Amino acid sequence: MSQNKIVMVQDKKIALVAHDNKKRDLLEWAMYNRDLLAHHEVYATGTTGETLGKQLGLKIKKLQSGPLGGDQQIGAKIVNNEIDFLIFFWDPLEPQPHDPDVKALLRMAVVWNIPIACNRATADFMISSPLMEGEYNRLLPDYNEYKTRNIDWGLKSGNSR
Ligand code: PGA
Repeated sequence: MSQNKIVMVQDKKIALVAHDNKKRDLLEWAMYNRDLLAHHEVYATGTTGETLGKQLGLKIKKLQSGPLGGDQQIGAKIVNNEIDFLIFFWDPLEPQPHDPDVKALLRMAVVWNIPIACNRATADFMISSPLMEGEYNRLLPDYNEYKTRNIDWGLKSGNSR
């Protein structure tokens, strides 16, 4: 498969999401990295964004709460190239009512090859990476090849009703 590239500019569009048992972790991480985050455009799911916005004193673009569709909104933004970096502290020890949405969000991040951190250590490495400082070419498979794949629709010429 050939490849396409999407340019991530220096100021990134970062989405922050944390499940309830991980919100404190995310808040501590975000407070520690407040000045770095301030350079970027920050999005968050509803409840996460509400407290982060107040505590960090940063303008955060709040989406719907995760279980009410916020994860799906972030997924759609990844598809539309409106989010290029995801910090998603999901809880491995609690079942979530929106488990399918969690899986879908993680999947979209992989499909569109955006950096994702699912725990604090990865988030630390990502935010302090020299790659954060400038433009980055995100490589993607050429999905046109997928979209134009051959499908056997069972249609025969001259067999229309
Ligand atoms: P919340 O959503 O920030 O609205 O709590 C997070 C999530 O569970 O996806």
